[in-house]
Amino acid sequence: MEVQSTFPRRSTHQVMVGDVPVGGGAPISVQSMTVTKTADHEATLQQIYDLAMAGADIVRCTCNEPEAAEGLARIVPRSPVPIVADIHHQYRMALAALEAGVDCLRLNPGNIRKPEHIKAVAREAKDRGVPIRIGVNGGSLHPDLYAKYGDVVTPEAMVESALQEIGYFSEVGFDQIKISVKASSVPLMIDAYRQLAELTEHPLHLGVTEAGPLPGGLLKSTAGIATLLAEGIGDTIRYSLTADPIEEAKAGRQLLESMGLRERKNVDLIACPSCGRAEIDVVAVAEEALAAFADREIPLQIAIMGCVVNGPGEARDADLGIAAGNHRGHLFIKGRNAAVVPEDEMVSTLVEWADFIMEHGADAALARVDVDRAEREAARDRDRLLASQGVDANDSGTRIEMIRRHTEA
Ligand code: SF4
Repeated sequence: MEVQSTFPRRSTHQVMVGDVPVGGGAPISVQSMTVTKTADHEATLQQIYDLAMAGADIVRCTCNEPEAAEGLARIVPRSPVPIVADIHHQYRMALAALEAGVDCLRLNPGNIRKPEHIKAVAREAKDRGVPIRIGVNGGSLHPDLYAKYGDVVTPEAMVESALQEIGYFSEVGFDQIKISVKASSVPLMIDAYRQLAELTEHPLHLGVTEAGPLPGGLLKSTAGIATLLAEGIGDTIRYSLTADPIEEAKAGRQLLESMGLRERKNVDLIACPSCGRAEIDVVAVAEEALAAFADREIPLQIAIMGCVVNGPGEARDADLGIAAGNHRGHLFIKGRNAAVVPEDEMVSTLVEWADFIMEHGADAALARVDVDRAEREAARDRDRLLASQGVDANDSGTRIEMIRRHTEA
């Protein structure tokens, strides 16, 4: 059963990044960034398509040289998702990206510093109806702000940098803004976003910058992003991983789905952690299932459980699942035993029934099987397992007995 989020959502203005709304109650969007040379428009477009398939709603490309801007002119009309141009240092590259037709700009206030340059870009963006993300980065703060706060990056300094940029934009009447205050330190970015959320109603783009390789980068990003989302802060997110950017898009999508903040798109695979009762190699079977469902758009929760003793009960809320018992796989649908298959057909059976449920629904699937017979077979294998392993398959009773002996001695 899919649980929808009851997290509050902070009220924000909405900006349109191409056809994707950000803020103002819109679904939280997932972003990622290409790692190809933007000038190589064919390779970049291929990566954008792959990112969109993996769950990215918006993709950013660097615009660091005139050839990149020319690449963007070829990429934007063929892209399946809105394109953001990432601009550092050279405000002329921002103007070139706007000329190329991008859907949004990202400016780093730490390295485009001259107010007249910032305002020139904002004026042009305003005329074209293109939003700008003010992308403050703890690692590249404006030197004056860095000095002002004692040569330390503080949340206050990051927030002040964003507010200063908003000030330049408002001088030219530009308000199509979203903001990020990213840092590689999770506590620092959380503090900065919290402070910013108190001061502005512009939509916020969340991320932990330079989070690093897997799995640490995933953990850091999730710690920062999920903490803020649970407080209602955040309108769009990006995982910044030192990994294939496909992993970023997948992670962003999965985080939002797991928090009930986006509708499920792909399989939510759950599996028991395995224990002394397991009848199969749960890790191997779960990996086989992950590969089998990898790119399938099947928004079901599917369970793989190591034994029929506890598995079906513990995964009763899953749409579909299978539990091992006595060298057989016991298929269950919505908590009801549905069929028994050979152990080596567990994953292929799940795929077959997931397809059937997607086409006809769970009730039709249950109507197609002999539930009573499947339940009898499951009960028989459960009893066999209990008889061979005992009720305490993990042998905790013996351990408790030993502990008592030690402590009573
Ligand atoms: S009791 Fe069964 S379902 Fe639960 S962790 Fe152990 S093997 Fe998995």
